[in-house]
Amino acid sequence: MDTQMLIGSRFETGTEIEEHILNPKTGATVIDLPEASHAQIDAAVDAAEKAFVSWSMTTPGERSGYLLKIADAIERDADGFAALEALNCGKPINAVRNDEIPAIVDCWRFFAGAVRSMHATVAGEYLPGHTSMIRRDPVGIVGSIAPWNYPLMMMAWKLAPAIAGGNTVVFKPSEQTPLTALKMAKLLSDILPEGVVNIVLGRGETVGNALINHPKINMVSITGDVATGKKVLAAASKTVKRTHLELGGKAPVIVYNDADLEAVVNGIRAFGYYNAGQDCTAACRIYAEKGIYEKFVADLSSAVSTIRFNQADDAENEIGPLISKRQRDRVASFVERAADVKHIEITTGGRPGSDQGFFFQPTVVAGATQNDEIVRREVFGPVVSVTPFSGEEQVLAWANDSDYGLASSVWTKDISKAMRAATRLQYGCTWINTHFMLCNEMPHGGVKQSGYGKDMSIYALEDYTVVRHVMINHG
Ligand code: NAD
Repeated sequence: MDTQMLIGSRFETGTEIEEHILNPKTGATVIDLPEASHAQIDAAVDAAEKAFVSWSMTTPGERSGYLLKIADAIERDADGFAALEALNCGKPINAVRNDEIPAIVDCWRFFAGAVRSMHATVAGEYLPGHTSMIRRDPVGIVGSIAPWNYPLMMMAWKLAPAIAGGNTVVFKPSEQTPLTALKMAKLLSDILPEGVVNIVLGRGETVGNALINHPKINMVSITGDVATGKKVLAAASKTVKRTHLELGGKAPVIVYNDADLEAVVNGIRAFGYYNAGQDCTAACRIYAEKGIYEKFVADLSSAVSTIRFNQADDAENEIGPLISKRQRDRVASFVERAADVKHIEITTGGRPGSDQGFFFQPTVVAGATQNDEIVRREVFGPVVSVTPFSGEEQVLAWANDSDYGLASSVWTKDISKAMRAATRLQYGCTWINTHFMLCNEMPHGGVKQSGYGKDMSIYALEDYTVVRHVMINHG
């Protein structure tokens, strides 16, 4: 197991407080890893600054070549990466190996191609005797901070467009899930020039805080909680850093009477509970029209009660545990408070899922109303609420009545109704008759307090580059 941080070309162990890295399936400690000191963080930023001089001058074709090599190396060692991610996050090995790793490899390959076809708009004469041209140049040194739900994928989403765009990076994984980032440290240092990517370990309030306040860092890219995003904004205001914020979500799912009920039930069973619901786009806030509400709740509850977790044979598992005891207790407390509300019924699940580890039973909370906590706040666990509604106006108003604005879906056979919803929903993404599906060509990102800035797609490359104007007087 790789345990050292990457600072320039050096591998170093942190010198500060140790974090226990746990196996969420058992709660046992896998390893203790110390976090970076201020001097180590400064050294990582200095290495990124030094590397920027030459990396920013490489051609898109050269950078593309590096990204392709990174993709190939991850693909060659897919089993190793999958095993480590499964260990650190408790994910079922098949989910990491067959869903996540191919998407991660494709992300690196996508940006390898995209950067070669990124064009600025025009060159022309807008004043007589003067030619203007538009450049897209790197922002500089990016401080990248990732969450624990998809560690290796978030790393790809953040690093690939940043270095493709000619930036250099200091990357901090979540203190709870650093293992695949440390394996990547070795892989990246074998492929990339010194200092292009640096990896430091540590907690948010210490190492993360040092990065977001670092005067030499030009841009902060963070995926995390809304509260963390607000801290990044406050810190960024001191030196006017560019920010890229992917924050939480509470995805509304509108199910009309005319929807294909079986497809919806299968869809929510998969997309509401994938990764144990630790997904900012999880299909967690269902609005079911009154004509199908009763049957939908019954069918969904029965389908959800069959989701397999904590099986001795991991190949059988569909979902894993939550990341930590703290997260499991947080999810449990949401469900307990919901169960105390008179009009709410827990129709399946509702309790911790095992004696050891951080499992929670896949849960359906029926009869919740718009102002209930379970409908309004992000739970980030295997818990889906269902609320009955009547009519388009009511449901669109309720769906939009949220501080979040990341993802949404609408399920109906009436394409006009679906398109009316897609037009009016204030979310970064609206799926029709599906949910959760992502591809590297299309942007992922929020509106409102879910943040701004896009991951994946050409829009991410735009976020990690700046538009500049060059004018020549040849009058
Ligand atoms: P978190 O905000 O606690 O931590 C995210 C990262 O930020 C971690 O690396 C953490 O160390 C760091 N951090 C925390 N406090 C910091 C500070 N003061 N300064 C600098 N860095 C700090 O979130 P989490 O618990 O790791 O992840 C879960 C959250 O992330 C959920 O709210 C979820 O919705 C959100 N999320 C969003 C997306 C998206 O694309 N929008 C994707 C995944 C997760």
